[in-house]
Amino acid sequence: MRFSRLLIPTTKETPNDATLASHIYLIRGGFIQSVGGSGLYNFLPLGKKILDKVRAVVKEELDKAGCQEVSLSFVTPAALWEESGRLEKYGKELLRFKDRKNNDFILGPTHEEMMVNLVRQTIKSYKQLPLNVYQINLKFRDEIRPRFGLMRGREFLMKDAYSFHASTEDMQREFLEMEETYKKIFTRLGLEFRVVDADSGAIGGSGSKEFMVLADSGEDTIVVCESCEYGANIEAAIAQAKVYNTDTEVKTVVMKALYDEGKSVYAGFVLPVDIELQDVKACNAIGANELVECDGTELLDRVVIEESLGEAVDPNNYAANDVTYADISSVCEGDSCASCGGNLRYTKGIEAGHIFQLGTQYSVPLAANFLDENGKAQPMVMGTYGIGVSRLLAGIIEQNHDDKGCIWTKESAPFDLQIIISNIKDEAQVSLGEKLYEIMLAQGVDVLLDERKDRFGAKMKDYELIGVPHAVVIGKKLADGVVEFISRDGMVKEEVSAEAIETLLSERF
Ligand code: ATP
Ligand code: MG
Repeated sequence: MRFSRLLIPTTKETPNDATLASHIYLIRGGFIQSVGGSGLYNFLPLGKKILDKVRAVVKEELDKAGCQEVSLSFVTPAALWEESGRLEKYGKELLRFKDRKNNDFILGPTHEEMMVNLVRQTIKSYKQLPLNVYQINLKFRDEIRPRFGLMRGREFLMKDAYSFHASTEDMQREFLEMEETYKKIFTRLGLEFRVVDADSGAIGGSGSKEFMVLADSGEDTIVVCESCEYGANIEAAIAQAKVYNTDTEVKTVVMKALYDEGKSVYAGFVLPVDIELQDVKACNAIGANELVECDGTELLDRVVIEESLGEAVDPNNYAANDVTYADISSVCEGDSCASCGGNLRYTKGIEAGHIFQLGTQYSVPLAANFLDENGKAQPMVMGTYGIGVSRLLAGIIEQNHDDKGCIWTKESAPFDLQIIISNIKDEAQVSLGEKLYEIMLAQGVDVLLDERKDRFGAKMKDYELIGVPHAVVIGKKLADGVVEFISRDGMVKEEVSAEAIETLLSERF
């Protein structure tokens, strides 16, 4: 591709609302363009190209693992969401609208209902199972605070896969296979990541894992062990149980717990004074959708005592109808790992993928049944597996940038090589540049030739901003028979004789 023909509107200006490197450079590099409202973006040619490359890696690995791609209608009849019971529960993130006939629709924020509906119409027998179907399509979530560019958009590209099985064991086998497949995908994309235990809501257990791209800018706090492989989102992290005696000072954190259909209760959570309440664990302990602060003087409907307090507190001290025990503590840095006793510490991550053992949560209400070997109808056992494809672009840049711009990884790069002709009035430079360009194209290398009339300094700035992994600079030194080969990571420069550059490029690409 010739730079002069390409739509790459690079700019020096940093968008007002941008704080993260990925947000700043994706806009400044002309990869994406904000569309008025927050959380909506256009992908320009380079951004689209990278998105397609990332998508291709995801697709290749999923197809190798036996998954099948489909494409579901983005506009979803609200009736399906009524059937699953999620229409109410999903709240304001769900964009709802009516058509001209007054029928209710939503824009899909995730597609469990749609995929179950597809499968229940086509699968009748255990002989047709297992099945893993996926799509790589737009999702819409009316996020309360869309921010950080592609990291948390309202419209975004997700790969969502759903698997259907005749037994829990078979679903668990697929879950492990998907974990391995995801590892291959993230490794190919050149990401440093960690697979961590995640909150599985009402399902609980080790039924869910997140793939965290490690980055200080990540919104998720993850707890990792310094001595073993243990890692968990703080929402699901556990530590070695502490032992408390009856002298332990305790506190009661009072919260208003919200349920479906506007129901709410006041709940007290009893913890050692120096331990923080973990909100997600607390929600799960009482099956609530959300906890909100309240003034703390209300009569309590429910009390949950941190389970490690055990005999250290007397449950009769609490005047509520319902007193239960559960793990509701936040794990602290310095706590001991429950698996190996090692030191636990915090780190930050970007949630790029989430795999989930669903069970029959959707197949029961949506009546997605199959006939087993005895001819008996059974609900299909499901798994669900998501990857934030557009979020991955941001994740790659969060991990791979410097103060000048992007440093794309091999499999995500918009081009393999950039050839920069320093001065297009210099015939020798132009002729070598054009020649190398043709040779590389003929060898199937995806190459960008910068043959613009601009100043050399501006071309180099654009090169650094766009972040193609390698470049050949054909400049003044060509008069002495020398060109430069540049690696974007670290801006490492090698002088190469003009005669040898063709061989060097052929070897490297
Ligand atoms: P988060 O906790 O970041 O809001 P989530 O748990 O709601 O994400 P899932 O429902 O598990 O997300 O969706 C699957 C994947 O889609 C996530 O792992 C993430 O990579 C991506 N994703 C979710 N929300 C967004 C968004 N608003 N913008 C871009 N990608 C997103
Ligand atoms: Mg998630």
